[in-house]
Amino acid sequence: MTAQIIDGNLLSQQLRKDVAVRAAALTAKGKQPGLAVILVGADPASQVYVRNKVKACEDNGLYSLLEKYDADMTEEALLARIAALNADPQIHGILVQMPLPKHIDANKVIEAISPRKDVDGYSVLSAGELLTGLPGFRPCTPYGCMKLIESTGTKLAGKHAVVIGRSNTVGKPMALLLLQANATVTICHSGTADLAYHTRQADVVVAATGRRNTLTAEMIKPGAIVIDVGINRDDNGKLCGDVDFANAKEVASYITPVPGGVGPMTITMLLVNTIEAAERETN
Ligand code: NDP
Repeated sequence: MTAQIIDGNLLSQQLRKDVAVRAAALTAKGKQPGLAVILVGADPASQVYVRNKVKACEDNGLYSLLEKYDADMTEEALLARIAALNADPQIHGILVQMPLPKHIDANKVIEAISPRKDVDGYSVLSAGELLTGLPGFRPCTPYGCMKLIESTGTKLAGKHAVVIGRSNTVGKPMALLLLQANATVTICHSGTADLAYHTRQADVVVAATGRRNTLTAEMIKPGAIVIDVGINRDDNGKLCGDVDFANAKEVASYITPVPGGVGPMTITMLLVNTIEAAERETN
């Protein structure tokens, strides 16, 4: 069996059309949705990420404000900027690009963002809303993974999903979203004794480790859906995920590529969350 590729770029385009329509409707009411993106320091990958986020806003009718600061910005100054953006009626979502320089307490910064503007869904409140099934902002990457899985038409109820990785931003919220969709969920991590034992039983596997070849073809149940969150470089410096894509696609039923799978969906869901924040504010 050769898997069908789940095209994250295509799905993103479709979802972004809806984003653009909703943004235009809000703008017509004098409430153009706005996202503030803060970058502290000059990490090259972060610079690319923020540029892509700002461009996605511009392309879809959202207002975007990009604030770049030197790596020696104080925590106090950053918190003051966030307080100002919390009070700014033009801004509906605030995103602080991670990682922050070591002298800044990232948790403190995340908690300083108004819950109404926490479009990354990283705050303790947003995490609690997800845990308890209350409406709220879902972290963009796992939210995007759910959309990718939904796009296959597969009903998750009764399925066994295995998430590899347990970070607060990807693995844990991913597992909770799958649970909410009535999948039976197993979470694996670096302390898991026999990863393949678990993944071989999975109807859906989400790999989010940041390590190449964490999931190889022989670890996949034939016909499973494989979602690859990882961003790594291969020996030739080419972008690759956590999954051995070339061989895994011969076993899976659906699989996401890297690049062109989860990546574009993460930005799309950021736009969706920002629109939702603006709609809530307006209604
Ligand atoms: P973290 O490093 O925070 O978490 C990695 C997780 O993987 C940890 O829970 C770790 O376990 C687990 N892990 C590591 N090695 C293994 C292993 N050999 N077997 C099983 N589990 C393992 O990373 P993130 O969650 O932030 O990101 C994961 C990947 O996804 C990265 O490559 C990142 O770049 C990418 N990413 C991609 C995005 C996109 O838009 N496409 C967005 C966000 C992230 P333990 O907890 O025990 O240490």
